[in-house]
Amino acid sequence: KLHNEVQELRGNIRVFARVRPQLPREREMSSSSSSSSGLASIHFPDPREAASIELLAAGESAVGTATMKTHAFRFDRVFQPSATQSDVFEEVAHLTQSVLDGYNTCIFAYGQTGSGKTHSLEGSANLHLGAAAVPTQDPEAGLIPRAVQMLWSTAEHLRAKGWRYEFEGQMLEIYNDEINDLLGKHELSGSSSGSNRNEMKHEIKHEKMRTFVSDTIVVPLESPSQVFTLLAKAKSRRQTAATLMNERSSRSHCVFILRVKGANALTGESCDATLSLVDLAGSERVNASGADKDPVRFTETKSINKSLSSLNDVITALGNAKTGGHVPYRNSTLTWLLKNSLGGNSKTLMLLAISPMAEHLNETINSLRFASKVN
Ligand code: ADP
Ligand code: MG
Repeated sequence: KLHNEVQELRGNIRVFARVRPQLPREREMSSSSSSSSGLASIHFPDPREAASIELLAAGESAVGTATMKTHAFRFDRVFQPSATQSDVFEEVAHLTQSVLDGYNTCIFAYGQTGSGKTHSLEGSANLHLGAAAVPTQDPEAGLIPRAVQMLWSTAEHLRAKGWRYEFEGQMLEIYNDEINDLLGKHELSGSSSGSNRNEMKHEIKHEKMRTFVSDTIVVPLESPSQVFTLLAKAKSRRQTAATLMNERSSRSHCVFILRVKGANALTGESCDATLSLVDLAGSERVNASGADKDPVRFTETKSINKSLSSLNDVITALGNAKTGGHVPYRNSTLTWLLKNSLGGNSKTLMLLAISPMAEHLNETINSLRFASKVN
């Protein structure tokens, strides 16, 4: 019996891995220097099954001689570099739809900076040009615009069955374990160091199964194009801040929370759930002791490590009967914010973004290990 329950919990957590293609400039580099490509490579042992990924990497034997070692991993789904945005969405669409059935749903993009997290979630830059560029036909549109469009069109279809849905959105950033409202008025301006902050402190409260963040803006959403305008606005504010703050977007988590409230006048049913889409901070290990003595950078690194390992701990605890029900949500702002979307009957997807480059191999192995623990 217990075993089944555990299976069920685990069944609500999926891990997909996506290896991005080489970028044009990377292709040039690797063709001009033939050296690195032989040292390491990524393989897909069974392309039809599409769940395995192998890394061939140089290792060291016990006697100190160089050897080649194969690291094999299995996930729920592995996407090769040739996979399109639409291929990925096809596998995720069902999950995002379940928010209309009242399931809290959460999608995390995890990986080192440059591995394709933002590309997978948002897609091409068109999304950010404003309302005029509703990405209906854009093949490069990522998960967020696709999910938003599908939710609105499904909600429209469900009207015939008596359902009426309302949507509202929030855009939050978690930087140094604190929340900033990307739609708020006064934040992200000025202060470039952690010590000199005049940023507002936001508190997270959980009441029943709902989460509230104090002093943040929740926007009622009428249409997909309004969502895109909102995302563009948040994005541009984040980029403005980034010029002041040393690539802040890769050092902070970005959380888009879409709340869906539904009521059915014919059956009396109702639902209330959130879809959270999380672009995590880059998972790369920054050398916190040596080269990087910058105290701002050090604080950032510590809080990124803390929140990513808390996320791992929470997900591990959810899949582990031995913890006796204790899930350490409170250990980071990220996990505390998303408490109601992690565990219970909520659905979680970890989308692992992977660079195909040999020089990123160590980070890739770290990411694959992280996600296979989650798995
Ligand atoms: P991250 O958000 O993880 O730092 P990005 O999403 O910004 O990484 O991706 C890094 C670069 O790689 C960007 O120029 C992006 O356009 C490109 N890229 C990522 N994934 C793909 C893909 N599947 N196809 C084509 N280009 C991609
Ligand atoms: Mg990014």
